[in-house]
Amino acid sequence: MELFKLEQARAWILASAVEIEKNATLLSDLDAAIGDGDHGANMSRGFTAITKKLETNPPADLSALFKTVGMTLLSSVGGAAGPLYGGFFLELGKQTAGKQELDAAELASILEAGLGDVQRRGKAQLGDKTMVDALTPAVAAMKAAGSNIAVAARAAATTARDAAEKTTPLLALKGRASYLGERSIGHQDPGATSTALLLESLAAVSEQG
Ligand code: ADP
Ligand code: MG
Repeated sequence: MELFKLEQARAWILASAVEIEKNATLLSDLDAAIGDGDHGANMSRGFTAITKKLETNPPADLSALFKTVGMTLLSSVGGAAGPLYGGFFLELGKQTAGKQELDAAELASILEAGLGDVQRRGKAQLGDKTMVDALTPAVAAMKAAGSNIAVAARAAATTARDAAEKTTPLLALKGRASYLGERSIGHQDPGATSTALLLESLAAVSEQG
């Protein structure tokens, strides 16, 4: 696939909703170990609301789609992840203003801007055991992968999955998990895991063309 358009973006978000729903128990179990056990329910509530909105009120372009996703996450998810993922998608909405389609480099660059927003809001650095640990190397892998969107998105998904697993031995320095101190070691971060699921959905949709 050479170009990412509204149709692909919509398919990405709907596929993400299915993927989040399938893994809601896993996400909540991971969060129960180092947080308050609500990450799966939070994400599932947000993406269910998004799916409904996209069905009843289909956005006219990329920017409107991402803005709807961001606003819905902000208003329905709560916790730490709501504002962070909400801000991420609102940033994608800003970055795609006036654009009908994205090439692989542009897709990587809007995700990088989204990551920038997550870091501005949450102040997490790489290695703090958060979603930033999955998103940062995934964006880098996407940028390095070249001009085929399916190849680039698959590189991002594989990298994010691997990076989420590598959060297990880390000490949490941000969010609720940081309250546990050393006891946060030995558990995979739920937010890094949900980020990997979103990128897996992006790869799957991109491979369908
Ligand atoms: P809460 O922690 O409020 O219950 P969630 O359980 O929905 O919210 O989300 C927890 C996830 O949010 C963590 O696993 C982590 O990846 C992410 N997170 C928490 N704080 C930050 C932060 N400051 N920056 C980036 N990500 C964060
Ligand atoms: Mg939680």
